[in-house]
Amino acid sequence: MKLERKWARMCLVLLLMAILSLGELALVHGNLFVTVAILIQFVLFFIAAGVVRHIGLRCAHCGKYDCPPRWNPGRRFYCPNCGEPFIFDDEEDER
Ligand SMILES: [Zn+2]
Repeated sequence: MKLERKWARMCLVLLLMAILSLGELALVHGNLFVTVAILIQFVLFFIAAGVVRHIGLRCAHCGKYDCPPRWNPGRRFYCPNCGEPFIFDDEEDER
């Protein structure tokens, strides 16, 4: 079973949104309510990225570890638990 690239990308987009929401902190000039709202937003994006990764990028063989999200095919990662490669739906099978 292969991992779907769309989950890796969704995870990366959510992480980017989390970072961008931290960037908003520079604009609020100490408004406590807005600062707290932005921090909550950051945490929610961060959690959402973790959930997407855990659901969509889990090791297909043992289910113990999640694959690091990658936007494009390239470097291959291996499960630290069972040693099986993480293969995405846009990559070739390992021979
Ligand atoms: Zn595994």
